[in-house]
Amino acid sequence: MSQTKNCLPAAFIERLTHIVPAAQLDSVLASMQHPRRTAFRINTLMDEAARVLPALQQAGFRLEPLNRMAGAYSVPAGQRRALTESEPYHRGAIYIQNPASMLPPLLLQPQPGERVLDLAAAPGSKTLQLAAMMDNRGWISAVEVVRERFFRLRRNLDKHGAQIVHTYNKDGSRVWRQVAEQFDRVLLDAPCSSEGQFTTLEPESFRYWSRKKIKEMSRKQKRLLYSAIQCVKPGGLVLYSTCTFAPEENEAIVSKMLRKFSGRLEVVPVEVALENSVPGLSGWNGRRYAPELQQALRILPNELMEGFFVCLLRKTGSTMGDD
Ligand code: SAM
Repeated sequence: MSQTKNCLPAAFIERLTHIVPAAQLDSVLASMQHPRRTAFRINTLMDEAARVLPALQQAGFRLEPLNRMAGAYSVPAGQRRALTESEPYHRGAIYIQNPASMLPPLLLQPQPGERVLDLAAAPGSKTLQLAAMMDNRGWISAVEVVRERFFRLRRNLDKHGAQIVHTYNKDGSRVWRQVAEQFDRVLLDAPCSSEGQFTTLEPESFRYWSRKKIKEMSRKQKRLLYSAIQCVKPGGLVLYSTCTFAPEENEAIVSKMLRKFSGRLEVVPVEVALENSVPGLSGWNGRRYAPELQQALRILPNELMEGFFVCLLRKTGSTMGDD
């Protein structure tokens, strides 16, 4: 067994053995002890690939395009620092973002002209990606409750040329009362226990992990997903994502909402051909989840990607009156 086991919390590893398929467990654990390649998106709100890529190549970056992610590239981990000192980085023409974190906007597929809500937005990686996909046309509301993170979000949006984003320093779990059924698409990239980002290279990444934290997060996520569903128009889409493995923060949260909004909410199957993805769990720790949850996707961490959970939902009927 890999050495990672000695460093990560034993209770976390024990849980993981029941969450990750046995065949992938060792490679998942191994991925937590090596630096990942650094991925970035060309920020089309500021410049185009035809100008940015040659500049990076001339500066000596060894770029590799990311499979099935247009406009996204990676460089070896050792070039990360130089990338953050490069000219395109300084003027906001590229944005460093893990490829797993690029998936939620790609699956939500916002269209120019639409009204989109990003309910847990800071530091704004996905808000910026949404704005770029919408070609700066339409309306994005971005909500962030933590004040310092809210200002970081604002700075990031300004630096990277997002013009259609309206920011709100508010608790996302409450906003639905003001904006019920007003959005075409809602992204909830929820606060979570962040297990998918654990790395033995930075013990800080797992220092605060506990079962209690998972419970605390799942309470927040339930309220936020409820709000996200209330905010989307009938017929609209909600993308729920976390960067954690804990089923209590993933399948369990969506399963509860499917039960609560039975007949008015459905899981939309996502098709992503990634060799490091597995279906959502059908159950865990003695609990069964709605069978549709197997159409959600778990991204297992590897040499490029962090761990993620994504589930796309469609609201098929009004949920007004559900209070
Ligand atoms: N989507 C972001 C990105 O791609 O850059 C990352 C979001 S991070 C996983 C979750 C964020 O939700 C944190 O910034 C956290 O402060 C914020 N948050 C936590 N509780 C919230 C709430 N009740 N309402 C709004 N934001 C909240």
